[in-house]
Amino acid sequence: MSAKPQFDIKPTMRRGPPECPSNPAYPEGVDVQQAAPGVPSCRVDLPYPAPERLVWRVRCRRCGYTLAITAAGRADDPRSATVPYRRKLQ
Ligand SMILES: [Zn+2]
Repeated sequence: MSAKPQFDIKPTMRRGPPECPSNPAYPEGVDVQQAAPGVPSCRVDLPYPAPERLVWRVRCRRCGYTLAITAAGRADDPRSATVPYRRKLQ
């Protein structure tokens, strides 16, 4: 086992106060699902809630998949993301 975490998570593009009200339907955060059911995937736990309105840049060290997730620093922020497993190219 490597000591490095599987995911490299960086805050980027800080954006100031949220533009829209928070969604009361998600008081405990949102699990972002980007992988289709049944396909190989990687799951990442995000820092939750975010410290402010920002975009998380997430990179999977295992397969190289990268994605950007917007957070607002409040209850309905994303708390995890499931992304397709992308086999590393040689
Ligand atoms: Zn991966």
